[in-house]
Amino acid sequence: MSPVVINLWYVGAAALFIFGLKQLGSPATAVRGNLLSSIAMLIAIVVTLLNREILNFQWIAGAAVIGAIVGAITAQRVAMTSMPEMVALFNGSGGIASLLVGWAALYNAGNTTFTDITILLSIIIGGMTFSGSILAWGKLSEVMNSAAVVFGAQRFVNGAIVIALIACAVLFCMEPSVDSPYLYAILGLALLIGVMAVLPIGGADMPVVISLLNSYSGLAACAAGFAINNNILIVAGSMVGAAGIILTNIMCRAMNRSLANVLFSGFGAAKQATKVEGEVKPINTEDAYLILEAAQSVSFVPGYGMAVAQAQHVVRELGELLEKNGAEVTYAIHPVAGRMPGHMNVLLAEANVPYDQLIEMEDINPRMDMVDVAVVIGANDVVNPAARNDENSPIYGMPIINVDHARTVFVLKRSMASGFSGVDNPLFFGENTRMLFGDAKQSIAAVVAEFKG
Ligand code: NDP
Repeated sequence: MSPVVINLWYVGAAALFIFGLKQLGSPATAVRGNLLSSIAMLIAIVVTLLNREILNFQWIAGAAVIGAIVGAITAQRVAMTSMPEMVALFNGSGGIASLLVGWAALYNAGNTTFTDITILLSIIIGGMTFSGSILAWGKLSEVMNSAAVVFGAQRFVNGAIVIALIACAVLFCMEPSVDSPYLYAILGLALLIGVMAVLPIGGADMPVVISLLNSYSGLAACAAGFAINNNILIVAGSMVGAAGIILTNIMCRAMNRSLANVLFSGFGAAKQATKVEGEVKPINTEDAYLILEAAQSVSFVPGYGMAVAQAQHVVRELGELLEKNGAEVTYAIHPVAGRMPGHMNVLLAEANVPYDQLIEMEDINPRMDMVDVAVVIGANDVVNPAARNDENSPIYGMPIINVDHARTVFVLKRSMASGFSGVDNPLFFGENTRMLFGDAKQSIAAVVAEFKG
């Protein structure tokens, strides 16, 4: 296939990527969006394989088979709650792939200075994405301590590494070669800066970091695209880079934090100031049923615990029973509930909850004082009133769903344990709060059983 025809196919694939991304923006069209993007990727791969410059198909076929097997097995096995860890590993793989592509491109004869710079960028960004992602994976999966690691001269050390990296890059560009000692120094420093960047970030902020690393993996791929002069890699890489940074921004805004605060504040390393104490009022499923049975308006507020319990189907069943009973039912969605953006939307869509019952935080909050019962299902941080009231709280300023404004609040969780951020929650001691202790799926199933009589 001639380069012109290949590039025409690439333009088609890029257009499909854009339409696919657009459709991924709404739950109603997301499945089609995913399909369109997959077709685009298939076109990109097949057309690239038709490139006459490919010298050896055995290695490509071998790598594709191994990659497909590993991907299929891990995708089958991974629990929905571990998805961010899997994305971290994907980002790391993307980073190391770009690093290797950039490195391999150094063997091409006749590289221009521009190509050398893009090669360096793919090696540096790819390397730091790889090591940063592996560390992020370790912290999220708790293979290692997830706490923020902060030490005195940290910024000075990081600054010194960056200066050394730039110096080595300049020296390398003056005499580029695969045997250059500066190349190996750059490789080492890039891997080191990835580790140093993620070290001061605590587990609670890791999903934001993973989104940022996703953006970096796109930028690394984009640089690799320039290095080997592949247009679809440039386009797809820049789209991943842009999408990752937009998502990072959305997540930071949802937590009312700046990106700089997430990256450099060592959140979670500091202890919380105000101790929360009070009387807890537990409730059993029979009494919960009686209150729900009399309610005119019920809002479910799902969080990470719903994902752990896999309670979404039984929640939808309870929602239907309440509707039949004459209540207005809504599902209040916080943008960072769960462990990844859209986590709750995905789970509720899987359980066939009608999209029009999903209400965003900004829209449900003004109506919360008209809600008879807010049923908090394994959510904690995203309904913590300390974020609104306690200036000393580490999560102060994060917008929350104001469940405490509802007439009655049921909190379904197994214990008094804190949420992902490790901050105590005064909601549990609220005047109008009743704690329904136990696994969320079992508790809701018991209420459903009461309804069915
Ligand atoms: P939290 O992590 O705050 O709380 C989850 C609660 O679920 C826990 O307190 C736990 O309590 C309970 N739980 C766990 N398993 C079960 C079960 N089987 N049945 C019932 N309850 C259970 O979750 P939220 O969704 O409220 O908040 C998300 C957190 O993640 C926030 O801190 C947010 O900032 C952070 N985050 C999320 C991102 C995202 O994209 N979604 C991105 C960045 C950060 P117990 O152990 O007592 O049962």
